[in-house]
Amino acid sequence: MNQRKSIPVDVRTIVLTQAGFRCAVPTCRTILALDLHHIVELSQGGRDSPDNLVALCPTCHALHHRGSIPIESIRAWKLILFSMNEVLGKRVIDDLLLLELQPSDNLIDFSGDALIHFGPLVAARLIEYGTTRTTTSKGTEFESYWLDLTTKGRSFLQAYRSGDLASAQRLVSLSPLP
Ligand SMILES: [Zn+2]
Ligand SMILES: [Zn+2]
Repeated sequence: MNQRKSIPVDVRTIVLTQAGFRCAVPTCRTILALDLHHIVELSQGGRDSPDNLVALCPTCHALHHRGSIPIESIRAWKLILFSMNEVLGKRVIDDLLLLELQPSDNLIDFSGDALIHFGPLVAARLIEYGTTRTTTSKGTEFESYWLDLTTKGRSFLQAYRSGDLASAQRLVSLSPLP
């Protein structure tokens, strides 16, 4: 089931980079010894192309082949990784997960540079931001930013975790929700 050796290095690099060098299963995300799984198996006419390959750790890979992780979920996670990377740039899932971990009553202070980094997620309305004014003990005022997930952003992470393909497709599109 593991065709790793036959897969060209450049294809392998594309798929692993797309996956952030982690297992594509959201509840797993292990970084160890990733396999590349063929969504459509070679014996069924699938190819060694980035769109047909997904990074899975050996445990999740075996679970999938035993039927414990459904193909619909694999497709959804692949779609999410692909869409998010292509449309919004690398590491956006990590960014969303970081923001999700903040305590809601004590949001992280971000700099303007960080805000620019998060720009695509703001544009996609997966996160929102605002300014915080802080006065130092010496009386100097400076502005920082808070960033938080929107309802759409939280729905997206929910769809991502559950492997809900339809919701994922709807939510990764750049069109704002009504
Ligand atoms: Zn496989
Ligand atoms: Zn895994």
